[in-house]
Amino acid sequence: MQNPITLRDIENLKKLAKQAKALHPGLSHAQRLNLMAQHHLQARSYHEVRKWIARSLEQHYERKDSGVVYCKLCRFSFVPGVAEDSTTHEKRHLNFEDALFSLGALPAAHATREQRKREAHNLIHSAPSAGEELAGVEQLVNAWYDRSLESAIGNGDWKKHPSLAEYAAMIVPTVEAWLRQSRVLYLSKYGCNRGVIPEGQTTWVQPEG
Ligand SMILES: [Zn+2]
Repeated sequence: MQNPITLRDIENLKKLAKQAKALHPGLSHAQRLNLMAQHHLQARSYHEVRKWIARSLEQHYERKDSGVVYCKLCRFSFVPGVAEDSTTHEKRHLNFEDALFSLGALPAAHATREQRKREAHNLIHSAPSAGEELAGVEQLVNAWYDRSLESAIGNGDWKKHPSLAEYAAMIVPTVEAWLRQSRVLYLSKYGCNRGVIPEGQTTWVQPEG
């Protein structure tokens, strides 16, 4: 099978195997998994599908020292030989796969965000006008937003994550310190939504309940 296989395919197989219980009550879950792998992915067995997925995931890995790999898609370091690590990675990777599929792109990764933040601070500190300060502040908020969204994707909460404009209103308690000339511009453009993201924080957290 040449098509890239995803962790979502594995989740679908598990679901189908569960649903097939009524139709094949005499088969074990493992046997039903094999049957679904044969029917839906033209694989010889579920084991073969697992081999495909391992190969497909490896394309995202960067080898580090002492058996550690870094997955570039879900930005996660782990030891593939450790079952617990692999399970944690697969859960996280599935969230990133789903988010990429839905959003069309993933938020900028750490290095890009840090670069954008440095540029934003330069812009803000040397801004000759309110408009230029606002542009710097917006770039800063953008970098924070990507960090916040990345964190929500990792937790599986990203579908409820606010949009950039909503986030810009929620981040007012933290971003205020940077709004020396452009406070009025910022507030009239984004408004202010206090009480969601506390002062000093930049990560949106799924409210309880
Ligand atoms: Zn990954």
